[in-house]
Amino acid sequence: MAQIVREKLVIIGSGPAAWTAAIYAARADLDPLVFEGEPSRTMLPGGQLMTTTEVENYPGFPAGVTGPELMDRFREQAVHFGARVVSEMVTSVDFGAHPFVLHPSYGEPVEALAVIVATGANAKWLDVPNEERLAQSGGGVSACAVCDAALPIYRDQVLAVVGGGDTAMEEALYATKFAREVVVIHRRDEFRASKVMADRVLEHPKIRVLWNKQVTEVLGYDQITGVRLQDTTTGELDDLEVGGLFVAIGHSPNTLFLGGQLELTPHGYIRTTEPWRTVTSVPGVFAAGDVMDDYYRQAITAAGTGCMAALEAERWLALQGLGESPLQEDAEAPATTGD
Ligand code: NAP
Repeated sequence: MAQIVREKLVIIGSGPAAWTAAIYAARADLDPLVFEGEPSRTMLPGGQLMTTTEVENYPGFPAGVTGPELMDRFREQAVHFGARVVSEMVTSVDFGAHPFVLHPSYGEPVEALAVIVATGANAKWLDVPNEERLAQSGGGVSACAVCDAALPIYRDQVLAVVGGGDTAMEEALYATKFAREVVVIHRRDEFRASKVMADRVLEHPKIRVLWNKQVTEVLGYDQITGVRLQDTTTGELDDLEVGGLFVAIGHSPNTLFLGGQLELTPHGYIRTTEPWRTVTSVPGVFAAGDVMDDYYRQAITAAGTGCMAALEAERWLALQGLGESPLQEDAEAPATTGD
């Protein structure tokens, strides 16, 4: 029988949080092992940035950088400092005993003294014709206006935002900075969003709302030209010309493989149990990036929490007698309660 390998630190994920954690951990001699995942229909190793064209808000790239190039550079830097990478998913975990056990999709189980979960979240898509292709080719379909609406292709266009929750309100309001007009398309006759956000949208001079409409098809070959809409009360079909589409119908954090062994928030994100920390409900398991953050959801904030998780893992291992930590044992996290 194959001997089970014991790792000091395993990082699960391959977005900005995971690679930043790997860079810090590798430079701290923790010899991290990264499970970067494998390509699937909805996700590539590297995460959501792999389907983002230009990234213009990541500091250090004055002329912008493509999402895949940015992720390649993160990965290369982690490998350069000694991170080892396995191109498999972790399909299940056992956090009930220590060392933890991780089960990859094909390889033998791995034991880990500390784990950083940085598996991200997937934007939900409408699953209608042409949507996925135009999103992947940068043809005017996106799930993040805050990331993309400032790009030249969206400027001075009529932009559609689909959804009726707070994310859709936020996306629509943000898109008004660049669009000629923003059309919010919602499948019911009232928003799910908080009243304050909904009011801002309803009162905005650049925003028009189409109620009771469902997008059934994205129109356009290389570039979006419009959307086909179906009235959810009458069934009537209608085409709307648009120069961009933002799908804002929510996100799903990638936590299924955890099998309920970490506490989650009411929205299904990993709950960090102390403010300004990456500690989870299981000591020795840390969470970073979009899998624990449904608020900022930016590459730069994910990278920041990846750094925090690596430093906290290092400190936790040191407290178990496994090495040293630059963090002081009695250092306090920044106060968040205002006291
Ligand atoms: P959400 O509240 O679940 O709203 C999703 C919206 O998308 C709903 O209006 C839903 O329609 C619509 N939708 C879902 N599937 C659809 C489909 N297949 N076709 C068309 N429409 C579809 O998600 P969210 O807006 O991302 O918000 C998630 C949580 O984060 C919420 O608790 C929200 O308050 C919070 N959040 C807060 C802020 C903020 O405070 N600034 C910003 C963003 C998010 P129905 O209404 O008909 O179900």
